[in-house]
Amino acid sequence: MENIFGYSLADCQALMQRLGEPKFRGGQLFQWLYEKGAPSFEACSNLPAKLRQKLAETAVIDHGEVVRHQRDPEDGTEKLLIRFQDGECIETVLMRYRYGLSLCVSSQVGCAMGCAFCASTKGGVIRNLKAGEIASQIYWAQALSGERVSRVVVMGIGEPLANGEELLKFIDLANHGYGIGQRRITVSTCGLVPQMKALAGRHLEINLAVSLHAPTQRVRETLMPVARRYPLPELLEACRYYFEETGRRITFEYALMAGVNDRPEDAETLIELFRHQNVHINLIRLNPISEGAFSGSEQVEAFADRLQKGGINCTIRRRMGKNIDAACGQLRHKTQQEKR
Ligand code: SAH
Repeated sequence: MENIFGYSLADCQALMQRLGEPKFRGGQLFQWLYEKGAPSFEACSNLPAKLRQKLAETAVIDHGEVVRHQRDPEDGTEKLLIRFQDGECIETVLMRYRYGLSLCVSSQVGCAMGCAFCASTKGGVIRNLKAGEIASQIYWAQALSGERVSRVVVMGIGEPLANGEELLKFIDLANHGYGIGQRRITVSTCGLVPQMKALAGRHLEINLAVSLHAPTQRVRETLMPVARRYPLPELLEACRYYFEETGRRITFEYALMAGVNDRPEDAETLIELFRHQNVHINLIRLNPISEGAFSGSEQVEAFADRLQKGGINCTIRRRMGKNIDAACGQLRHKTQQEKR
């Protein structure tokens, strides 16, 4: 049976038409699926009982199932491991901020990008997630917390721009289904240049974050294989183009690793690279992965200080969920290893 979780409004309307129902029933169904988070057709109380039965005979609402659920007692960060029909698992992280809940969602099962410091990419990519599977992460976060997700960051497992079509459908569901405005959605990319340019052409109001992690091409290509395909000058050119097209300032993510990219001269090179440009750098303390060769930097504050003195706008990402393997892909990776 067809899983309708992930249907757009138009899909819901078309389904109702196929069933010989008026179009407005499609709107009601759409509202139940996302805004009201119906666990089943049975719960859709303003649909006639006969229609609910008809729906249940032809389709399912499948959000996958939560197979692990961890909560950091210190900061309330929660991590869910969700398993889909085919047995594949992804993780999603719920963070609590003063303004509300922020959800970090996965976009693929695994990742093909091969970044040396990242746990998500260790087994390669298995498949793309469907828009509904990305949205199911919002469903579960809201169902289990009883609260609304107010921000979404696509920074979980996977490279979202390698799954662009479903990403766009997901943004539409987050927007129109869950009422999460585009300005409260952030998509993070390792720097797939053609896809960034194509995305620019959509003129969305989402925030784009680019994983930079190094001030030079030489260092960047040792950390991120994607840098060999799209060298730093090309990447920065794509960022300028994105800004020109959309008017949205890009955030650069920079995970500080001891002795790799956290030295004073690295800060100076960054300042030089972005001189006279209005950029924002988000510094992240590296979350070391168990078999990784990199350790987190002890120089985060000093590095931030240097950048600021050099005229670069930067922030330090608050570290959350450190007690629950909250960095990308750590829980999925660990669960897979335990199985073996
Ligand atoms: N593929 C996308 C989005 C997923 S990763 C991207 O590369 O941007 C989200 C962010 O977490 C990226 O900036 C990524 O480089 C960073 N990241 C990955 N592993 C990390 C780790 N162990 N510690 C800190 N940040 C990490």
